Amino acid sequence: MANKIIQVNGLKKDFHVGEITVHALKGIDLEIEEGEFVAIMGTSGSGKSTMLNILGCLDKPTGGIYQLDGISMGDMNKNALAGLRNEKLGFVFQSYNLLPRTTALENVEMPLYYNGRVRAKERRERAEAALEAVGLADRMHHMPNQMSGGQQQRVAIARSLVNDPRVILADEATGNLDTRTSYEIMSLFQDLNDQGKTIIFVTHESDIARFMKRNVVFKDGRIVKEEWVKDRFNAKQLLAELPVDQDVI
Ligand code: ADP
Ligand code: MG
Repeated sequence: MANKIIQVNGLKKDFHVGEITVHALKGIDLEIEEGEFVAIMGTSGSGKSTMLNILGCLDKPTGGIYQLDGISMGDMNKNALAGLRNEKLGFVFQSYNLLPRTTALENVEMPLYYNGRVRAKERRERAEAALEAVGLADRMHHMPNQMSGGQQQRVAIARSLVNDPRVILADEATGNLDTRTSYEIMSLFQDLNDQGKTIIFVTHESDIARFMKRNVVFKDGRIVKEEWVKDRFNAKQLLAELPVDQDVI
């Protein structure tokens, strides 16, 4: 049986804003095995990002249990969480979150600075390899504003890979991209998953969710539906069928 990389039981998250309490997560149970490719779906405000932030150790739950690779998050202090995040997780966001005055290569090297064991030469080599893996060998020294949105997102994916994380967490990673570029990004994620990487991908777009193997649907802070995707989309096949001069579907 595959290793259970993520185990969540009765997870809750409340936000307090002035007099108001928002119950963003109301008791989530979720198990994810190594090598899965899961979409967290749902309309805006349903709790997807809150869930992903907790899975990514960027935020703490108000209740319930979260175990990442057998380690319980509840007992950890801030430093330990940051270490775990750096060692086991990679992040890709809708807005790329690249450092603006820093080249693609330096952006990708960034996570390795927090890992004291990696020396400068190895840092450089690993960042170059990650950029090559996402097809950007010829953009290493470009600044973010000298690249297209799709290229910037590929830099972000390279950055998420450079630590060889156990899990990649993506939040609306195709949200700012046109159809063709979205498919190119999904092709990259499908390749990574084929190579064994566990990926959790938040999206509100049901078309995008069909690139994944399993869909988990959130509504109002709860999981309301879970299903294995039948007739999964193959990004490379869809790209081949997309008319050259007609990118919008
Ligand atoms: P989604 O990503 O599905 O659009 P979110 O997880 O961002 O939804 O938000 C879920 C709910 O929690 C929303 O009602 C939102 O207003 C609330 N929320 C999210 N983050 C915060 C925060 N930092 N402070 C207060 N309320 C928040
Ligand atoms: Mg969100």
